[in-house]
Amino acid sequence: MNYDAIAIGAGLSGCSAAIQLAKLGYRVLLLEQAHYPIHKLCGEFLSVEVQASFEKLGILEQVHHIGAQKIHRAYLTAANGAEFRSNLPSTALGLSRYQLDLMLFQKAQSLNVDCFDSTKVLDITGDLKTGFTVNTTKGEFQGRLVLGAFGKRSPLDRSLGRGFISKRSPWIAYKGHFKGVDIGDVIELHSFPHGYCGLSQIETGEINVCWIAHEKVNKEDLHPSLGIPTALTKNPVLADRFAKMQRVSPAWQGLSQITFALKGNFHNDICMVGDTAGMIAPLCGDGMAMALRSAEIAVPFVSNFLEQQIDIDTFKKQYVIAWKQEFQTRLQLGQMIHNCFVQPTLANAGVNLCKTIPALGNWIIGATRGKPEPVAPLPLTQIA
Ligand SMILES: Cc1cc2nc3c(=O)[nH]c(=O)nc-3n(C[C@H](O)[C@H](O)[C@H](O)COP(=O)(O)OP(=O)(O)OC[C@H]3O[C@@H](n4cnc5c(N)ncnc54)[C@H](O)[C@@H]3O)c2cc1C
Repeated sequence: MNYDAIAIGAGLSGCSAAIQLAKLGYRVLLLEQAHYPIHKLCGEFLSVEVQASFEKLGILEQVHHIGAQKIHRAYLTAANGAEFRSNLPSTALGLSRYQLDLMLFQKAQSLNVDCFDSTKVLDITGDLKTGFTVNTTKGEFQGRLVLGAFGKRSPLDRSLGRGFISKRSPWIAYKGHFKGVDIGDVIELHSFPHGYCGLSQIETGEINVCWIAHEKVNKEDLHPSLGIPTALTKNPVLADRFAKMQRVSPAWQGLSQITFALKGNFHNDICMVGDTAGMIAPLCGDGMAMALRSAEIAVPFVSNFLEQQIDIDTFKKQYVIAWKQEFQTRLQLGQMIHNCFVQPTLANAGVNLCKTIPALGNWIIGATRGKPEPVAPLPLTQIA
């Protein structure tokens, strides 16, 4: 079959693009290397803008029905004890990627997207003029257009020869689910030397713990009783949390070489969405909203191109301009805050400053995310 569009990667951006294109009547193929459902490394904190995206994609009711944790407050600490508490501008959500990605994948299936998981893309050839061939572990597929939605870093980046992949990045991250403390409707972010750790509650009542740090943290000894790098225990609040929590997931999930570089919206005519185009620093808690939003930005241009209303150059130019307008400043600001928060002195000064001038803290929280769109109120039965 010759597809109108092939989306590579069934994370948030790939599923969102596939669902939107299927709703517009296009023949869409969605390819995912993992076997769903699967746990993914992520802070699992969904900032408020996602709710408008979920509504458009038709999964908002399901997200509430499954019991996504409502999050109203933020709690930031630095290693020397400075702390800042704030109300979030609107309700955010805690939901596991295990549930969320499955929900989106199944939604795509229900709209007649051809969805193949356990199917790894090995290479892509072709262009927007002649069409593409996508070579996978399950055979070859043809499409008029390919959407690259394969996340932060994939072997596919190397096969395609993308520039950023040859540059080393020192950032590593780990995630696990825990029980033993109840943080309720608070998103916690604790800075420690060379990194920070986020805690947020998900639909099961468990706490998702996710930390990102410079790789040098992993060269330190593990704390003898807590079993985590000693750097994390330098923040007393974080040390106390770990002392009270027990890990539920069998093992920590880990990732290395995390990069915040802008990677480009096109490569060999493949249209990149989500982290494949660029990822915001995790402490902003906005990567998932941005992944969903980038697919919303791309789809109208994709559709105009498929309908031959715009030529290849116009398609590319318009998407790049729209993407940069929405994300470039946020990505740069996110990286700046990340760089401050991993340095104990700056993290301490920053948290203290936010405490002294709460409006500054609230401004930073607002400036790293998009503007929430109004969402229709849920029936009362769904809110309970
Ligand atoms: C430590 C850390 C914490 C974070 N915490 C948060 C948070 O709390 N809140 C938030 O909003 N964001 C957070 N983020 C960011 C968020 O996880 C990402 O921005 C978001 O998942 C991007 O979605 P995506 O669709 O672009 O990519 P992904 O969700 O990563 O999906 C990409 C998919 O492509 C698949 N794939 C890769 N290669 C291939 C291939 N060759 N063939 C087929 N399939 C392939 C992968 O298996 C994956 O399923 C965090 C990121 C990090 C690193």
